[in-house]
Amino acid sequence: MEEPYTMESDCLFCKISHGQTPTEILFENDTLVVFKDINPHAPVLLLFVPRKHIRSVNDLTDEDQGILSELIVAAKKMAKEHGVAKSGYKLIFNVERGGGQVIFHLHLHLIGGWH
Ligand code: AMP
Ligand code: ZN
Repeated sequence: MEEPYTMESDCLFCKISHGQTPTEILFENDTLVVFKDINPHAPVLLLFVPRKHIRSVNDLTDEDQGILSELIVAAKKMAKEHGVAKSGYKLIFNVERGGGQVIFHLHLHLIGGWH
């Protein structure tokens, strides 16, 4: 199958979302992959990563609106699967260095599980 999205060289989340690392993928579809954060500072910390390389929220275009809603819908489903839907959780996009972003490939953090 031909890949619809081109990879950015030296981008870790391009590599993970294109299956080029041994990362355990918890959920995937044509648009996105979900995996555990390597450095969890909460009981549940999942990352939702589009296969398309988009640097940050600042770089989203109108045609990315479908991707964005798929990220959020996937997060809602995984929150339920991981037992934090009722207790609650945070969905966070860090945007650029001042916003705490260190990996410049768009991703949504799902953080929860304290209660
Ligand atoms: P951000 O600060 O928003 O760019 O978030 C990047 C996140 O990716 C951090 O929470 C890191 O712990 C996480 N991370 C970095 N490398 C990996 C990896 N190889 N597998 C899973 N998560 C990672
Ligand atoms: Zn990338």
